[in-house]
Amino acid sequence: MKTTASQQVEVVTDILCDACGTSVVPDFQKKHRDNLNDFSDYGMLNASYGYGSNQDGESFHFDLCESCFKELTKKIADIRTLNSGSL
Ligand SMILES: [Zn+2]
Repeated sequence: MKTTASQQVEVVTDILCDACGTSVVPDFQKKHRDNLNDFSDYGMLNASYGYGSNQDGESFHFDLCESCFKELTKKIADIRTLNSGSL
């Protein structure tokens, strides 16, 4: 015999961009999914620094929407250009 109980489970209902605050999840995905626990079609920036580095043991995680991620890749390209000019 099985006994049952209804439990409250925490689920991901939306994912917001850490830079501009807009949702990174398209509306149709929100409508057609029960939850967004395994949604991963968006930009993520992760960094973790080991002990002994300048950022000693720190870790960073940013969720980013498409346009902010684009801005970030532009910035990286700019930094690359700047550095290649000084070589
Ligand atoms: Zn954004």
